[in-house]
Amino acid sequence: NLPVIYIVTPTYRRPEQLAELTRMSQTLMHVQNIYWLLIEDAKEKSQMISNFLNRTGIRFIHLHSDSTQGKYKGAKPRGVGSRNKGLKWIRENANDGVLYFADDDNTYDLQLFKEMRYTKKVSMWPVGLVTQTGVSSPIVKNGKFVGFYDGWIGGRKFPVDMAGFAINIKFLKTRPNAAMAYKLGYEEDSFLKSLAPFEPQNIELKADNCTKILVWHTQTKKNPSSLPLDKKKYADTNLIE
Ligand code: UDP
Ligand code: MN
Repeated sequence: NLPVIYIVTPTYRRPEQLAELTRMSQTLMHVQNIYWLLIEDAKEKSQMISNFLNRTGIRFIHLHSDSTQGKYKGAKPRGVGSRNKGLKWIRENANDGVLYFADDDNTYDLQLFKEMRYTKKVSMWPVGLVTQTGVSSPIVKNGKFVGFYDGWIGGRKFPVDMAGFAINIKFLKTRPNAAMAYKLGYEEDSFLKSLAPFEPQNIELKADNCTKILVWHTQTKKNPSSLPLDKKKYADTNLIE
């Protein structure tokens, strides 16, 4: 009787979408007892994603979030509307288990899901970054949390990466107003602060006291020449439903 892991993944249409989702899905195919909430940033759900999900054999929930994300100082926080939509679905449909926000373009080690599965409140672990900073992680001394390492602290109480934490759903449901703010750079911080009272000292430290990197915040190179999607150009490919 493994606790269920609800994996909330925002996704949006671009040339690399199906490649990212293929990579991610073939990882998730190896993880037991999950629900994959794949949430399209679009006015409506697409047939292409529906077909894709059906082919994976993974237990999924296919949703979309209307792009009411708004703008924050000109730049759009990415995936926030979809993550909040996933939160809403979980509040209404799940009683137990664990929630994990997993972007569609990251790289996941199967061990990560073993680490997070028995989260009691909020668990955290290092996230490998493909930048000079190298990693974002809680700092642990003698088995105890002492601070955070991240390339940019920005006055955040929880300077962590979206891929770096999981939340117990029973605990989440004791925080009915917990949500993510449409605030670029402060998405994780706003969400974790909305779980108050909850302090960094209460974090459950995973991945051998945060000594192992089990998830990477990878980013796929954009090819500007192929944006926006040209329906005629891609007419014979699987990019067009
Ligand atoms: N995303 C989205 N709508 C957008 C941009 C991004 O739903 O307009 C999703 C994207 O598919 C990913 C997550 O939000 O799952 C984070 O976006 P991205 O990977 O581009 O951000 P980065 O990792 O570069 O900060
Ligand atoms: Mn990303």
